[in-house]
Amino acid sequence: MNSYISDELARLTQAGLARSMRLVESAQGPVVLMDGQEVQLLCSNDYLGLANHPAIKEAAIRAIEKWGFGAGASRLVSGTMPPHVALEERLAAFKQTAAALLFNSGYHANLGCITALCNRTTDVFSDRLNHASITDACVLSRARVRRYANRDVDGLERLLKKSTAKTKIIITDGVFSMDGTLAPLADIAGLLDRYNATLILDDAHATGCLGEHGRGTLERFNIKHPAIIQMGTLGKALGSFGAFIAGGKNLIDLLVSKSRPFIYTTALPPAVAATAIKALDIVEAEPERRARLHENAAFFRDGLNRAGFDTLGSETQIVPILTQDAARTMEFSKRLLKKGVFIQGIRPPTVSAGTSRLRASVSAAHTKAGLTSALNAIIETLNERD
Ligand SMILES: *Cc1c(COP(=O)(O)O)cnc(C)c1O
Repeated sequence: MNSYISDELARLTQAGLARSMRLVESAQGPVVLMDGQEVQLLCSNDYLGLANHPAIKEAAIRAIEKWGFGAGASRLVSGTMPPHVALEERLAAFKQTAAALLFNSGYHANLGCITALCNRTTDVFSDRLNHASITDACVLSRARVRRYANRDVDGLERLLKKSTAKTKIIITDGVFSMDGTLAPLADIAGLLDRYNATLILDDAHATGCLGEHGRGTLERFNIKHPAIIQMGTLGKALGSFGAFIAGGKNLIDLLVSKSRPFIYTTALPPAVAATAIKALDIVEAEPERRARLHENAAFFRDGLNRAGFDTLGSETQIVPILTQDAARTMEFSKRLLKKGVFIQGIRPPTVSAGTSRLRASVSAAHTKAGLTSALNAIIETLNERD
């Protein structure tokens, strides 16, 4: 085993695929401390600036005083507590569904929902750019997986036409996490009745951000359909941790009885649920955060486009900057950090060869001055000779 570990590590390092973590030495926010230096953080999913919001911290502290910290066991054993139940009611109302069920992360929510609904007789139709947790869940479910090209509704329909499976499930991200583009949800929703299919919508990057009230991509496109199951996370725009599935009452009852990542894991700490409730209060009471998020994203994107950079069709707060070559991309990311701008470089296998990119994400908490200095540093760095 020891030689396997060192060989595998050497292989990854040689292929340029070894990963490492960068230490952020302050609370999350638009500006953080790294190596004792203040840097503009352009790679967080804390889109509304809630991760370090005073009201969220206060809600956590109050909940800890009342409920303690740990949940003690699985929700089905001894772990279900009033904050879990209250949060699920809030999430169902927020997503305009009959019910919702908490999971310990978005990864678990996708795993728990997909493995409970799919088996060897299911045909799953999955967008090629879907999140890794969806890919993993599909493998574990043993469903027959048909992948269609990113956002290619005609390709999806061709696959649906050919399918003879009784259960057909389409799965798509609402916002694609490496491109910042939107799924063609109106067209996909139009296929559900025709092919008797169900849609699982992963709204990790849209929940709290898109639509008039921040309900997500369905609100953004004004879509309502009973055959749509929504997943959302609490760890991104809501500044907390955990995730949920929202849908019909029967669906949620089935998940409670059958979803292994729900059954066989300790419940979220009740204080975590309490912070998510507070985050929903803020999302509902302060639409100006969402307005500022979109304004900041447009400002940042326009600045890059005007300087001649390709942002790969981004329509949201996720703004990729195409840099193509993997090694150059990582070098750009390093140089930018030296100039006080933290943006992750994304390379294969996360994205396909030749499409490496700097993936920026913008927050409502960024200032125009901060974004301007980040833009200047990016433009300068990308125009430098190697
Ligand atoms: C982040 C993300 C997840 C996982 O959510 P976590 O709560 O961070 O585990 C799932 N799907 C998509 C599209 C994501 O971006």
